[in-house]
Amino acid sequence: MLGAMQDWDLVVTHLIDHAAREYGEREHITYWADGTETRTTWAGVRHDAKRMTQALRAAGVRKGDRIATLAMNHSRHLVTWYGAVGVGGVLHTINPRLFDDQLEYIVTHAEDRVLLYDAAFQPIVDRMRDRWPCVETYVCFDSGDHAPAFEDWIGAHDGDTEWEKVDERDPCMLCYTSGTTGNPKGVLYEHRSTMLHAMAGVQPNLFDADSRTVVLPVVPMFHAASWGLPWAGTIPGIKFVYSQVNDPKVLCGLMDREQVTHSAGVPTVWLAMFNYLDSVGKDVRDVGKLRRAIIGGSAAPKFMIERLMKNGVSVAHAWGMTETSPIGTTGSPPANWDELSFDEQVALVMKQGRPAFGVELRCVDLDDHTKVLPRDGKSSGALQVRGPWVIKRYFKAEEDAVDSDQWFDTGDVAVIHPDGTLQLTDRTKDVIKSGGEWISSVELENAAVGHPAIAEAAAIGIPHPKWDERPILVCVAKPDMIVRAEEVLDHLRDKVAKWWMPDAVEFVDEIPHTGTGKISKKDLRERFRDYVLEKVE
Ligand code: AMP
Repeated sequence: MLGAMQDWDLVVTHLIDHAAREYGEREHITYWADGTETRTTWAGVRHDAKRMTQALRAAGVRKGDRIATLAMNHSRHLVTWYGAVGVGGVLHTINPRLFDDQLEYIVTHAEDRVLLYDAAFQPIVDRMRDRWPCVETYVCFDSGDHAPAFEDWIGAHDGDTEWEKVDERDPCMLCYTSGTTGNPKGVLYEHRSTMLHAMAGVQPNLFDADSRTVVLPVVPMFHAASWGLPWAGTIPGIKFVYSQVNDPKVLCGLMDREQVTHSAGVPTVWLAMFNYLDSVGKDVRDVGKLRRAIIGGSAAPKFMIERLMKNGVSVAHAWGMTETSPIGTTGSPPANWDELSFDEQVALVMKQGRPAFGVELRCVDLDDHTKVLPRDGKSSGALQVRGPWVIKRYFKAEEDAVDSDQWFDTGDVAVIHPDGTLQLTDRTKDVIKSGGEWISSVELENAAVGHPAIAEAAAIGIPHPKWDERPILVCVAKPDMIVRAEEVLDHLRDKVAKWWMPDAVEFVDEIPHTGTGKISKKDLRERFRDYVLEKVE
């Protein structure tokens, strides 16, 4: 016997229909690279998405085809999300920071038929056009110099059309994740998974969004589906404040003027903002109405959490990955929050929080990945995850990426505390094994960046005849600051176990980063391949 409720497929076009109907006049603003600003509304986004759907049909795009974007954050990009799914297509957001070989690989692997791009990326398009034979139609978001301009392209249509009929298990979006080895891998989100993820995302324990929420998402729309915000934002009808450029002065100016309440970004974004505010003698509370900071992508350091909290901002320190749509966990106040001291609250937020409903986590033995470890806050193991918005199989892969019980191996190393709080300690490939015991590179790095003169730090293992590996710490000093290795070691001494203390501290001008802004340990290890520890004992 089936239940007796209505058919209402979980398809993402319902999201934009809802926002346009219920919050039609709610505005979005975009600051463009040329310094101009435009405004639109949820009703405007839907109308333009309908016109884009017609333009795509006119270009011969059909259900299931891939429509790519190479663009920063702006309202036309938002239109594209809904225009692409409106035609039954699959939106493929490309990270413009990838290397040419990766760009060639993902566009041809995805078989993108249409590419919409920012004028700033014209050099990439010029360079790659011959290597992207599958792309038939190019449209430029903000210029008509080399390809049809977006506004003209959709302008030829009236928006009077129906969304293509799709099934909730049909795909709607494709994001590639550039792992540390091999070619990037595609994660193919479905309408259903995306819808469930969006419904979860706005909850108080996660983005904590309501109809008064004004979000400046610094997380790019090309990274991990912009943490789902373009989908989730429709549910309570939030206002987006977009900037095509990532200049902290512009971002702080927008926050102030548009009274931004929420922002989301990786730690380096917040750091750049702090540095700018310091340079003009201001603090976070002096700009806009920021009350919630969502930080993820890599571990949020202590000083960052402290500074935001001292400024009255609640910090949602989130863990997730492209393969998890990306929401996995967030740090939101537990029941006893008000009884905790400020320092205890900060210590809690430094961990990665508890899972959203719909996400299950467990840690298994690092050596053989079979024994499930207790949630005791001590046993460190390989983190596995499962749930309706977690990957089952990479795009076009023949094998499932999960085991027979649907557990996906994240490649992260973590402990889970008795109350379910997740604490990431490393990446499986980055842990340092010394004398048979694991040293967390992440904890060393977090402790190091707490030093006032250190801008960034990375710990890597160096081969050692007796201990197998020993950690060294590679640091970048803040501009105009001078700091000695001994001072860094003194700073670490009461923060990490004695045997975790780095055998050496090295200073470099820059630490290599991946296309998504994370420290590239692979490149760093390569750079220090021939490094010899001074005293080996
Ligand atoms: P991506 O798919 O590019 O978003 O990368 C996902 C990876 O980023 C995860 O597997 C983690 O290694 C790392 N990551 C994400 N959030 C956090 C966090 N809050 N703390 C530490 N690492 C994180």
